Amino acid sequence: MSEEVDLFVIGAGSGGVRAARIASGYGARVMIAEEYRVGGTCVIRGCVPKKLLVYASRFADEFEDAAGFGWTLPEPKFDWATLIANKDKEIDRLEKAYTANLERSKVKIVKSRAVLADSHTVKIVATGETVRAKHILVATGGGPSLGKDIEGHEHVISSNEAFHLKELPRRIVIQGGGYIAVEFATIFNGLGSEVTLVYRGDNILRGFDDEVRSHLRGELEKRGIKIVTKAIIEGIEKVDHGLDVCLSDHHQQIMADTVMFATGRRPNVKGLGLETAGVKLDEKGAIAVNEFSRTSVPHIYAVGDVTDRVALTPVAIREGHAFADTVFGGKPTLVDHTNVPTAVFSEPEVGVIGLTEAQAIAQLAKVDIYKSTFRPMKHTLSGRDTRTLMKFIVDGHTDRVVGVHIVGPDAGEMIQLIGIAVKMKATKADFDATMAVHPTASEELVTMREKFATHVRQAAE
Ligand SMILES: Cc1cc2nc3c(=O)[nH]c(=O)nc-3n(C[C@H](O)[C@H](O)[C@H](O)COP(=O)(O)OP(=O)(O)OC[C@H]3O[C@@H](n4cnc5c(N)ncnc54)[C@H](O)[C@@H]3O)c2cc1C
Repeated sequence: MSEEVDLFVIGAGSGGVRAARIASGYGARVMIAEEYRVGGTCVIRGCVPKKLLVYASRFADEFEDAAGFGWTLPEPKFDWATLIANKDKEIDRLEKAYTANLERSKVKIVKSRAVLADSHTVKIVATGETVRAKHILVATGGGPSLGKDIEGHEHVISSNEAFHLKELPRRIVIQGGGYIAVEFATIFNGLGSEVTLVYRGDNILRGFDDEVRSHLRGELEKRGIKIVTKAIIEGIEKVDHGLDVCLSDHHQQIMADTVMFATGRRPNVKGLGLETAGVKLDEKGAIAVNEFSRTSVPHIYAVGDVTDRVALTPVAIREGHAFADTVFGGKPTLVDHTNVPTAVFSEPEVGVIGLTEAQAIAQLAKVDIYKSTFRPMKHTLSGRDTRTLMKFIVDGHTDRVVGVHIVGPDAGEMIQLIGIAVKMKATKADFDATMAVHPTASEELVTMREKFATHVRQAAE
């Protein structure tokens, strides 16, 4: 006999876990299925383990920079196996904490793949049992997309495997230009690998402000990361001393120990029974939803990466929460997908919110640009050759700050707080009226007085 629940959640990641807990808090009988590990991409093989590796990689600079401040250190040694073991221990702890939180919220966890048998029935693949559900939430996330098969594709790893490499590669080639590719390039570079980044476009971080892209590229190159743009990997051959990587770019060849593709992610929709249930996909292959995350079937909802709106953890969590408030809490709640602050945990870090200069010029009649590039104070003594970039995009008619872009230490931390001001529609004058905290890098954000440029759209003839 099949069990009956008010809500069945498929996928215990960022969005699914939040939705399940909140819905249960409203008194709903909730079941959640997870086919891999509770916590999902972010906790198990995304944001969290990545940030731990980022921390590890940044010690290299600290050791080097210490000399300028009078420290003499013995030759530092790094052990990849220790880092991975400690990281795995922390991920196990987090998985247990997520499981305990779900159980405490009276959510029933099913450790299995789950698929839709029809629009009200979920099949637990491990047992073959079925569950009747009044509402279903698809929160299955996304997975790496490695593009079309090339010769030697069996040697390619994705970010999933990068977290479990047996040893630190001496030479790694990473294909991709998005934030995951850039972050892993700086992680491996900091840990001592020889890194080549290969990207088919003309510059890394497509979609970011052009100046952020060129500034970061310059900084990565100063650190010794080789960046090859307008090229793709055409084939990989295993030879005695590693992997022979052949590029489209004049058939350049690079020797590597590891080849990683970070060439985008696709929504996890395959084999889910969506068609049987009548759930429609959009033109990009993600689940199509309305502003309340409702699919083409009125009692089936979808949140997070599987809907491919803004593929970030806080967004998935917010969507999951809003779904539970709307459907089980009697509080119809929308998620605002504009002005989402975001960071790239490269070295140096990137933090951005709002419009790029190009987007602002396309959307607004008058745009003022303020910017500053400077050497971070710490590096006056360390001698490190690096510069911070801070840039404001301001609506020239209303004085409202519509974009902020930072490349430099702690940019991620800064943009979280700047995000509040931008969300509150702060003007440039509001920033200017704020007293500086001295000496900090972020004081530059409230002391940028000189306009760098003004773009005025010519009235149509
Ligand atoms: C390397 C990397 C770094 C990242 N770094 C950041 C970052 O710094 N900041 C940030 O905000 N975001 C980051 N992200 C993105 C973030 O991880 C995702 O946006 C977020 O996890 C999406 O949450 P979700 O709930 O949609 O899906 P997920 O967290 O992916 O959860 C989906 C879950 O569903 C399970 N599942 C799938 N199909 C089924 C099925 N049929 N039955 C049962 N279970 C199923 C999966 O196993 C998974 O556990 C990163 C991603 C990656 C890959």
